[in-house]
Amino acid sequence: MQTTGPEKLPGIRHIIAVGSGKGGVGKSTVSVNLAFALQRMGYRIGLLDADVLGPSIPGMLGLTTDQPPGFDAGEMITPAERYGLKTISMGMLSGDDKPAILRGPMVSKFLKMFVGSVHWGQLDYLILDLPPGTGDTQLTLAQSVPLSGAIIVTTPQDVSLKIARRGLRMFQTVHTPILGIVENMSTFTCPHCGKGTDIFHGGGGERMSRELGIPFLGTIPLDPDIVTCGDQGQPLVLEKPNSFAAQVYGAIAAELDGRLQAQSTSALKQFTWTWETNAGAPAWAESAGRPSGSQTTAIGFRQRDARTLSVLWEDGQRQDFDVRDLRLNCRCALCRDEMSGLPLLDPKSVRADITPRTIVSVGNYAISIAWNDGHSTGIDTFKHLRALGASRAAGVAEDV
Ligand code: ADP
Repeated sequence: MQTTGPEKLPGIRHIIAVGSGKGGVGKSTVSVNLAFALQRMGYRIGLLDADVLGPSIPGMLGLTTDQPPGFDAGEMITPAERYGLKTISMGMLSGDDKPAILRGPMVSKFLKMFVGSVHWGQLDYLILDLPPGTGDTQLTLAQSVPLSGAIIVTTPQDVSLKIARRGLRMFQTVHTPILGIVENMSTFTCPHCGKGTDIFHGGGGERMSRELGIPFLGTIPLDPDIVTCGDQGQPLVLEKPNSFAAQVYGAIAAELDGRLQAQSTSALKQFTWTWETNAGAPAWAESAGRPSGSQTTAIGFRQRDARTLSVLWEDGQRQDFDVRDLRLNCRCALCRDEMSGLPLLDPKSVRADITPRTIVSVGNYAISIAWNDGHSTGIDTFKHLRALGASRAAGVAEDV
């Protein structure tokens, strides 16, 4: 079985980052089990342990850490192979899985080496298990690797969700599509009485994905077998393929795969549209999977007058946006508080003659506008834009 679409790196079709706002939410466990769930679908998988300072993948795969990887004739690193999955980890280079002590630039160097100088061969999916947080490593990877997208793992707790939100914004800022949110350690089902208990509350991940308009990929239960399998270096998806948790991992993998397949067969061609010249309208790539009449796919932009941008949607609707209103509605981390969602941008600071310079596509779900005041870090999802347009047409002045 092969995934479709152009390769992201030579030989690699899709590169997916698995991130989380903080440690201990089960991100590496999700990376490993997701990798094997995709493998069970017939795909060729690589797993890159991008947690250079605290690698945990060797332990979870039962790999010995005292055997540094070899080099092939072309001086490329040969990844380790375990259960048919290729993997590389700092734990293999440093000879143990104790945290490495490295300065930031060295971390970046190792990461680039792991992606560019490892002989991955032909892969359908390369999964990157990111370190927790939203720091240097995540930015280095998001900026230097052509990611298909990122998955955010969170527990249902509020505090974890708040932190996961920060992770989301980081990926949005560097224009990496968010493929979805996975809620981990949800309901615990008592093996004796069968009763479910939401130890860390429940449904937070789903709520967050609804609020942010991001896909929800699934809920993994709190399951002691997941811990045991991880500790023994035998991933649950392989060890207990019929367990409920393994089936959930399988469903998440299928959902993710479906999304990426749809993205590559019915992708909006990348476009850059220019305000001054009206040139560069988006056009859908020819494909059988093309959605028809979508309310949330822009098919054209026009400068209607000096202050108005018109957006034509695939369902034939046209919406007109006052460009300054659009600028004031920017939802990037510079313009809106990450935690409260309240505006940080002072309307008085936005010049009266603000206009877009260019509009660039972000994946097939959003645009990023470069403004003539130099601002360009915002991403407007089509969904948000459409809702904003509808509220303005209805005469509603507040933020959407
Ligand atoms: P992170 O990568 O976010 O730091 P890990 O994947 O290392 O987190 O997981 C932390 C701990 O939580 C590990 O002991 C792991 O076995 C356990 N764990 C992960 N997911 C689950 C789950 N769904 N149920 C029970 N324990 C889990």
